[in-house]
Amino acid sequence: MNETTTIIAECRMCSDQGFLTVRVSDLAMWQAGAMVQEAFPYLMPEQREFYFQSRICEDCQDTIFDSESTMDKMTTEQMLLQFEVLGFGYGYCAVQRKSDGVKGVLSFDHHPRFYYNFQEV
Ligand SMILES: [Zn+2]
Repeated sequence: MNETTTIIAECRMCSDQGFLTVRVSDLAMWQAGAMVQEAFPYLMPEQREFYFQSRICEDCQDTIFDSESTMDKMTTEQMLLQFEVLGFGYGYCAVQRKSDGVKGVLSFDHHPRFYYNFQEV
């Protein structure tokens, strides 16, 4: 039962393509609703991001995280790497943090669009 399959992903920032071989049974587990880290515990976090979450390649992830030294303000791309958006309210955005599943709200500015000040709810 060690059948494998190849996943192809294209980075939505630089259009680089990547190929990843995973076990069919793991992929099925993820498609059935398992968390990425449960289905593919052997993958690097950067690989999980690229192939299953944000579709931003490892190089672009590095670029984003390098430019974000303070974590004070996040662009939309930076925010989406770390949070799942649940909805928008007046002047805030309801999100769930990917790293630990904590739900909270982010404040944001419109011009330019920046997200900041994560608070648990
Ligand atoms: Zn890229």
